[in-house]
Amino acid sequence: MIGTEAAAEELPHQAAARPPLTMADFGAMAVDVLSGVGRSRGKALASLEVTSVLDLLTYYPRRYIDRTNRAAIADLEDGIEAMVMARVDSVFAKKLQGNRSLVSVAVSDDSGRLRLVFFNQPWRDRQLAEGQEVVVFGKLDRYRGQYQMTNPVVDLVGDETGRIVPVYPQSAKAGLQTREVRRWVEEALRRSRARGISEPVPQALLAQHGLIGRHQAIEAIHCPETMDDVFTARNRLVFDELLRLQLKLIMRKRAAERAAFGIGHDTGGELVDRFTNSLGFPLTGAQQRVIEEVAADLARPVPMHRLLQGDVGAGKTVVAVAAMLTAVQGGHQGALMAPTEVLATQHYLGVRALLADLSVPAADRLSGERPLQVALLTNQVLGAERTRIQASLAAGDIDIVIGTHALIQEGVEFSSLGVVVVDEQHRFGVEQRAALRAKGAQAASPDVLVMTATPIPRTAAMTVYGDLDVSTLDELPPGRTPIATRWARTAAEEAEVWDQVTAEVAQGRQAYVVCPLIDESDSVEARSVTETFERLQADELAGLRVGLLHGRLTPAEKQTVMDLFRQGSIDVLVATTVIEVGVDVPNATMMVIVDAHRFGIAQLHQLRGRVGRGAQESTCCLLSAEAVGIAAERLRALVESTDGFELAEADLDLRGEGTILGERQKGRNDLQLASLRRDKEWVVGARRAAAEILDADPGLADHAELAAEVELFLVDDDADYLMKS
Ligand code: ADP
Ligand code: MG
Repeated sequence: MIGTEAAAEELPHQAAARPPLTMADFGAMAVDVLSGVGRSRGKALASLEVTSVLDLLTYYPRRYIDRTNRAAIADLEDGIEAMVMARVDSVFAKKLQGNRSLVSVAVSDDSGRLRLVFFNQPWRDRQLAEGQEVVVFGKLDRYRGQYQMTNPVVDLVGDETGRIVPVYPQSAKAGLQTREVRRWVEEALRRSRARGISEPVPQALLAQHGLIGRHQAIEAIHCPETMDDVFTARNRLVFDELLRLQLKLIMRKRAAERAAFGIGHDTGGELVDRFTNSLGFPLTGAQQRVIEEVAADLARPVPMHRLLQGDVGAGKTVVAVAAMLTAVQGGHQGALMAPTEVLATQHYLGVRALLADLSVPAADRLSGERPLQVALLTNQVLGAERTRIQASLAAGDIDIVIGTHALIQEGVEFSSLGVVVVDEQHRFGVEQRAALRAKGAQAASPDVLVMTATPIPRTAAMTVYGDLDVSTLDELPPGRTPIATRWARTAAEEAEVWDQVTAEVAQGRQAYVVCPLIDESDSVEARSVTETFERLQADELAGLRVGLLHGRLTPAEKQTVMDLFRQGSIDVLVATTVIEVGVDVPNATMMVIVDAHRFGIAQLHQLRGRVGRGAQESTCCLLSAEAVGIAAERLRALVESTDGFELAEADLDLRGEGTILGERQKGRNDLQLASLRRDKEWVVGARRAAAEILDADPGLADHAELAAEVELFLVDDDADYLMKS
């Protein structure tokens, strides 16, 4: 097949009328229509997930070599990064001890010679051969008096003539030369020119956003004349990716709203007011605003699907209770689901205290009222008690139930479930949330409020939670004493930390010591935290009452330890991250995090939020002698800021969005170019554009090609996954 195909200057499957090629057309063409893509090249391309011409055209360059920017070997300076173009003179590979390897490559240009040294990249031996032209990026360093570059970036350029040469990702490891990829892309583009590439986005919209046409953008991202071309091309293609995603999310959301039948709650009753007036404090402005946002949703006969973001301690519980009370006021029930027994129990105690004196309308009582009933349902609730609770739930005698995943088990039925609150969303599986929603036995679906204490920046939320409405508690209740955060690096600094713990305890306060999960296995977890516990008890914290909490304990044992700590019978609680979310002991003023470099920013912030809950000044100590690089930046960010949203931005900057997206968007692969971090304006612009398009054309009937693209690029699973959350 090689050769014969090359003669055909147009891509196959072309109709007589020959309209411009669409993404679907490219998707239908196997990449082996291109010359030179036979079985082995095809396999290598497949390993990069390139099997169609569409895959190839959306396999974007990782970067570009601007040939005008290069240096001569003789002009390289010690310690300065530079690019040289050179010829390979010799390649020498060597095994080092301990499974390590070294490849040493001599290169030269007209001005001089240079040695390149690669550690643990044995494939360089195959990649590089005498006589090749290479572009080398790296920093000159000196080893035993000789100049060299260690682990530079190398690209094979061969006989490229363009001024700006695209470099494709990972191509060398897949056994492909970046120049081969370039040749196939160029061929695909050349063979597309006769028909052109179709433009699915209305011209007016492109003009409004200052975007170039799609054909021009695809050409320019692969074969730019200048770096400016890359910039404008990228903008257009980023917009396309984000537009497709937002179209899908908004369409899904609107379809779900049309299909589902919810409860139009009466938000005029006085139960919520009585509750808020009974609190010992005024609501923050943010709480008021969010309670109103939620009430507006509850009043509509469409099921609510709202995410409540708020930093640790922002007061989400009050909002959740107000939502559940709105349901109760109208004779429905509220359910709050927490991820662990400890948290469910704590919520139960807290909510029951908040609602202690409230009564609800009861037509069958002489007084016309009865006390509001709150119940706890976890897998620890057994026997007669469980039977009683289940019967009361089914009969509607319980108004608010708080529990764990026990709430969604077989046999748990509600009389009329009106509002569901899911706490600490990231701990729950998608299926579990869907199951709880399905518990509305009546025809109408309950309203769902998902609470998370791991805020993400607004534009990221628009994408990650594009199908949810988002409410944000961006204001902490007044009078909080800020938490001082310290990073203890040396043994002496660590000793000071333990002295401070001892001093706090002497003043009647309590402390947490959190150890990381070393690996997934419970037994290892138990061992490492137990070791720390034993060491502290015997040594640094001798004489204090130290408790131990980890995942290996039974729920009853955990409960006992937590109760003892809450009562103040334990001074210092050594724990794994089981205490990460929600645990509320106002007398605890110190949080010590062992091996802090093993935690992410969000997790550290969550852990820190366990203290600073009372009037006393609190301290968080990060112990880590080892943190370097990004881990060190994370700890520094924690030391510098206590604002969850600021930290979320820092986190996004440090990690890229992969991890944030990873939580909800596994498998979604349409965001090739778009970055939620760099392309914030485009996220906002694309969301607005998508809403405008759909307002005028809800089913995309007049935008058929765009509709087809949305389906082509976004696999249904992804959107289903999003909608179920
Ligand atoms: P979150 O769940 O958002 O971390 P909580 O709902 O647990 O926060 O509230 C943290 C603490 O702040 C609780 O002790 C709560 O009673 C208190 N609180 C909530 N709202 C206010 C407010 N408006 N003013 C003062 N304290 C408040
Ligand atoms: Mg909470």
